[in-house]
Amino acid sequence: MIAIYPGSFDPITFGHLDIIDRGAQLFDSVIVAVLSNPSKRPLFSVEKRVEQIRYCTEHLPNVQVDYFSGLTVEYAKLREAKVLLRGLRVLSDFEKELQMAHTNSTLWSEIETVFLATAKEYSFLSSSVVKEIAQFDGAIDHLVPANIVQDMCEYYQNK
Ligand code: ADP
Repeated sequence: MIAIYPGSFDPITFGHLDIIDRGAQLFDSVIVAVLSNPSKRPLFSVEKRVEQIRYCTEHLPNVQVDYFSGLTVEYAKLREAKVLLRGLRVLSDFEKELQMAHTNSTLWSEIETVFLATAKEYSFLSSSVVKEIAQFDGAIDHLVPANIVQDMCEYYQNK
């Protein structure tokens, strides 16, 4: 069974990578699908995020990285995937995630959303937290892989 793991991943964190790792053990293949949504004003371009995630997941043979725009269910149909993989951290994620899962199933009744609970050590971790710390030159090497630390440093140095 193919699962799509959609998200902004701006940037990818150890929390996301934990979900990808565990998803890759549960499903035949996992497609990490980076949402191209310029209105969210991302730090990294969609092409850069795809490249970053490919680098961090190259040891996982059944993980592919791609990008999409528009409705997630349309992308899932295109890739012949009936599972959306999402991570759940705190209670506040739940409301938004449940709403999204229900909305998606009204758009395509065959789609199923599967939630994986965050690893305890990453329950506080989000891309926004990483950006907040990095912009003030704080340490982020315990939150994101080394290639992301480097890209974030370059981004804020050139700003
Ligand atoms: P989006 O903009 O779609 O929320 P994100 O990149 O923020 O995209 O997150 C993608 C998915 O990964 C979401 O399901 C989110 O809940 C999950 N996620 C984000 N951070 C973590 C984490 N630290 N642990 C587990 N899941 C996470």
